[in-house]
Amino acid sequence: MDKLVLTVGEILVEIMATTRGDGFREAQSLIGPFPSGAPAIFIDQVGRLGTAAAIISRVGDDDFGRVNLERLQADGVDVSGVAVARGEATGSAFVRYREDGNRDFVFNIANSACGKLSMTAEAETLLERAAHLHLMGTALCAPGLVGVVRAAIDRIKRRGGTLSFDPNLRPEILNTPGLREALDEVLAQTDLFLPSGNEIFLFTKARSEAEAVAELHARGIGEVVIKKGDRGACHYGPAGRTDVAPIAVDEIDATGAGDCFGGAFVSFWLAGADASIALRYANAAGARAVTRLGPMEGASTRAELDAFLLAMKG
Ligand code: ATP
Ligand code: MG
Repeated sequence: MDKLVLTVGEILVEIMATTRGDGFREAQSLIGPFPSGAPAIFIDQVGRLGTAAAIISRVGDDDFGRVNLERLQADGVDVSGVAVARGEATGSAFVRYREDGNRDFVFNIANSACGKLSMTAEAETLLERAAHLHLMGTALCAPGLVGVVRAAIDRIKRRGGTLSFDPNLRPEILNTPGLREALDEVLAQTDLFLPSGNEIFLFTKARSEAEAVAELHARGIGEVVIKKGDRGACHYGPAGRTDVAPIAVDEIDATGAGDCFGGAFVSFWLAGADASIALRYANAAGARAVTRLGPMEGASTRAELDAFLLAMKG
């Protein structure tokens, strides 16, 4: 049987401002809802590649929930572990790019349906079947999610499964009470770590990339992949360091690139592909993702990645 990849975390819709500027304090035109939430984007990319995929989450009994469930199902993701909560609202993120490329957000996550996630019989069944668990640091920011995350790690690791972890954090949220401890706890169980850029230094004393990676290897993390946006990515594993050059694309919307990169890397890694092959496809999945408006819209099938790599000489 195919190895089942499972994730636990938020499902959201994203609603985007159509113009650049400073936030949302005046009426403006918007586009959305787009299916979103970092774990949901990740698992959608896994599903699109034809790898067995499932998500444990919670949505409201509303169109924002349905827009996500329909997309995930269409892309082959098992949504039996997504509880539909009557009378509650699906999470959302409103986003507007500033002139300088930074983004302003209005989030409704902790008080949305997914913020109140709890273990269900359907979620238990998935935990029994999964070979691999992927977590995002954001799942540790909503109190309701942490308990389920802890239980999931425990169950999957005890059965000999593997854990990948993408911190997906901005330094300013690191002061959330209890978050630091929860992050260290997850890191202690991580087999494949996927930070982006300087995130690696949030977890280490070292100040250079190579030293930071050595510190993480010494803590038992076998493989580290560092995402570097338009500078490509690099992998550190038992065979040393492998770099991949960025594929030159027109960046339309950067949101979701890291999640698509992670979904592709994990799919190939679990299938036993060489790190350089997994990195090449992940790099292509990330680059292709930024060419589409909407966080999940740029998730790719294997055929799309092959065609893209050929066309872009990646
Ligand atoms: P996010 O959390 O916003 O989804 P991230 O910080 O986790 O993103 P990035 O480093 O932005 O992840 O992107 C992941 C990967 O996608 C990069 O390592 C690279 O391979 C590819 N990528 C991202 N942006 C570009 C770009 N502008 N051009 C080419 N490749 C890109
Ligand atoms: Mg990210």
